[in-house]
Amino acid sequence: DPRIMAARVVVLLGFLASASAFAPSAMPAFGRSATARISKMGLRMAATMPKVPYDSVSPTGPSGPTLPAPGEDLSFLEATPYWDQTNVQVNIAKQKNPLIGKVVSVQRMVGPKAPGDTCNIVIDHRGELPYWEGQSYGVLPPGIDPKKNKPYGVRLYSIASTRYGDDKTGKTTTLCVRRATYTDPATGKEDPAKKGVCSNYLCDSKPGDEVKLTGPSGKVMLLPEEHPDNTYIMVATGTGIAPFRSFLRRLFGEGTPAGKNFKGLAWLFLGVANKDALLYDEEFQTYLRSYPDKVRLDYALSREGPLNKKGGKMYIQDKVEEYADEVFDALDKGAHIYFCGLKGMMPGIQDMLEAVCKSKNISFEEYLEKLKSNGQWHVEVY
Ligand code: FAD
Repeated sequence: DPRIMAARVVVLLGFLASASAFAPSAMPAFGRSATARISKMGLRMAATMPKVPYDSVSPTGPSGPTLPAPGEDLSFLEATPYWDQTNVQVNIAKQKNPLIGKVVSVQRMVGPKAPGDTCNIVIDHRGELPYWEGQSYGVLPPGIDPKKNKPYGVRLYSIASTRYGDDKTGKTTTLCVRRATYTDPATGKEDPAKKGVCSNYLCDSKPGDEVKLTGPSGKVMLLPEEHPDNTYIMVATGTGIAPFRSFLRRLFGEGTPAGKNFKGLAWLFLGVANKDALLYDEEFQTYLRSYPDKVRLDYALSREGPLNKKGGKMYIQDKVEEYADEVFDALDKGAHIYFCGLKGMMPGIQDMLEAVCKSKNISFEEYLEKLKSNGQWHVEVY
């Protein structure tokens, strides 16, 4: 009966899709033989089989393969040697003469239970606005600022792709943008008249739309790649994930000299409201499965739990505190710590570190000063 056969195929495909989410290393061979059997049956549905099993589940919208292709050799945008930052550029395009980029894609990245809306936005810069991992772009939204009666000023966005872009052409940039909204404290309702200009403009943009870009900007978040055995501790809230998505892709997602040589540890702490609000999680899980000795992921889901050790909501500083001894130990050995996301995260982080320093009988001020003067402390909050 063809209907029973079709039902069996649907079950098999469903199984393969879910298996690929949890057991990628076992998938390629299994996937291929199953595909062969199905195609023998002459079923066109086989065409829907994922070719790259890691990417078979990607609601958070990465726009290129997560792992490098076997034997991939990506080096056309590398310095010589690849870690030499002498020629990292800033302000190639300025506000007075912005580069006109073109939107390639806009994808909502969060699930229905996430508070707010965050989009993965890929923009074509034709290779004319090159950047390094850890830099930001400026975006000039169209329109006149009624408060100043002149065109809206530039807004900065951390770049979420590597210098090669997610399509590895070296011509695109990915931004991770959260729509800024305004909730009236009196009514508790959103007031659309006060929504953020640029973030909503970007999230509402369509493929083909032109975008005025400036930059790149910033050098505080660069990766010191001359030491391939570095430990990178990355602490993000929300869209603060952008530079770290770029770092992780640089270290594990591309066949570059930086990726091939990396022998250290990339440890990500990400704080978001709940599971639906996680960003780029599938990519990170892929790296973790592929390089379990080089990747650590710790998430703090403030509205979902588990609770922190004091029984309160688990914020990012509580999650870092759980591993305070290991973090301190790594920093003592020269690890670099990066913070990105909402400004509001820093007081909690500093208080936590101060308390841990106290418990270890060390002066927090001196400790922090040492990290800063050694170039181990990298902060970009907004
Ligand atoms: P604006 O129009 O500038 O409004 C700002 C806020 O004011 C909004 O929350 C808006 O709702 C509120 N508001 C508007 N009108 C009123 C009113 N009448 N009364 C009270 N409130 C009002 N953002 C990201 O999403 N992703 C990133 O990766 C990112 N990276 C950044 C990197 C850096 C280095 C910096 C400095 C900032 C970064 N930002 C990032 C923030 C970004 O630059 C913008 O600040 C953000 O998108 C809001 O800009 P907007 O034009 O949408 O909002």
